[in-house]
Amino acid sequence: LRLDKFERYPLTFGPTPIEFLPRMTEALGGKVQIYAKRDDCNSGLAFGGNKLRKLEYIVPDAIASNADTLVSIGGVQSNHTRMVAATAAKIGMKCVVVQESWVPHEDAVYDRVGNILLTRLMGADSRIVPDGFDIGIRKSWEDAIQSVKDAGGKPYGIPAGASVHKYGGLGYVGFAEEVRAQEAQMGIKFDYVIVCVVTGSTQAGMIVGFAADNRAGRVVGIDASGTLQQTRAQVREIVDNTAELVELGRAVRDDEIVILEDYAYPAYGVPSHETNEAIRFAARTEAMITDPVYEGKSMQGMIDLVKKGFFPDGSKVLYAHLGGAPALNGYSYTYRNG
Ligand code: PLP
Repeated sequence: LRLDKFERYPLTFGPTPIEFLPRMTEALGGKVQIYAKRDDCNSGLAFGGNKLRKLEYIVPDAIASNADTLVSIGGVQSNHTRMVAATAAKIGMKCVVVQESWVPHEDAVYDRVGNILLTRLMGADSRIVPDGFDIGIRKSWEDAIQSVKDAGGKPYGIPAGASVHKYGGLGYVGFAEEVRAQEAQMGIKFDYVIVCVVTGSTQAGMIVGFAADNRAGRVVGIDASGTLQQTRAQVREIVDNTAELVELGRAVRDDEIVILEDYAYPAYGVPSHETNEAIRFAARTEAMITDPVYEGKSMQGMIDLVKKGFFPDGSKVLYAHLGGAPALNGYSYTYRNG
């Protein structure tokens, strides 16, 4: 794969650790070995997370465009807008982020703590708007871009999740290359990768990366959007675009794009009872912290799949931990008793 021809602006520490999770493995019956790749610990920038891998390939384009302001969008507790704010601070640009009201919430501090607190602290102009959940290109984002122009600035637009951007899929092609190198060092091979999917470029990049050794279909996406058709279509589009960029040399088949929809209920950003149980389980077996919007749902999915026998005995499963823990602060009421 031709990832090397794209410029990368380092925002992360480098390859992320892969660790075996012995207590979780044991608690789930011991027949499937669970590992985690810790992209939640990938950087010193504002707690890190998956967006930084993507942004590493987007920043050179932003700098080359002579922009002075990064403009992006997400929900009120968006990890992505936190990461764009961090990137802007780090490279010395201004930042405008539109924060849509994607999640109904009961927590009194929801719009003051966690991701949005950090975003404000890093100096981003954070604008809360009433629009509901949608992973597509949004008018509120286009309006924000225009507002920067109107004020005499030079905006560089980054869509939700840095996904529908020409280079949005490259970062997670790099993840697959990194896993292959780590597998060679460790002398093992993973049979499955579990990944949370919402805006799509994380899983899409992995699919293209693992298509190179015919393992794309072993990348199991756990949908957390609750809008599966839109997410799947977006993954498909990013796969095709990214495969062409890195010269995969073949088309990715539809059956190589695996996304399970069973765990997104009741809605994006709202944890089910089972999601909360999965969050407690990961915290109590491995002190691995997952959040109610994203990783709690992929954790819930992985646990259920192990229990259902989805993975043959002896399988090695790699849980991609993509970050997101700061959002927990917006759910203090939900976890007031643990
Ligand atoms: N996990 C976390 C912590 C995230 O912030 C996101 C972002 O949306 C995802 C998973 C899903 O990744 P993607 O939007 O690339 O599908």
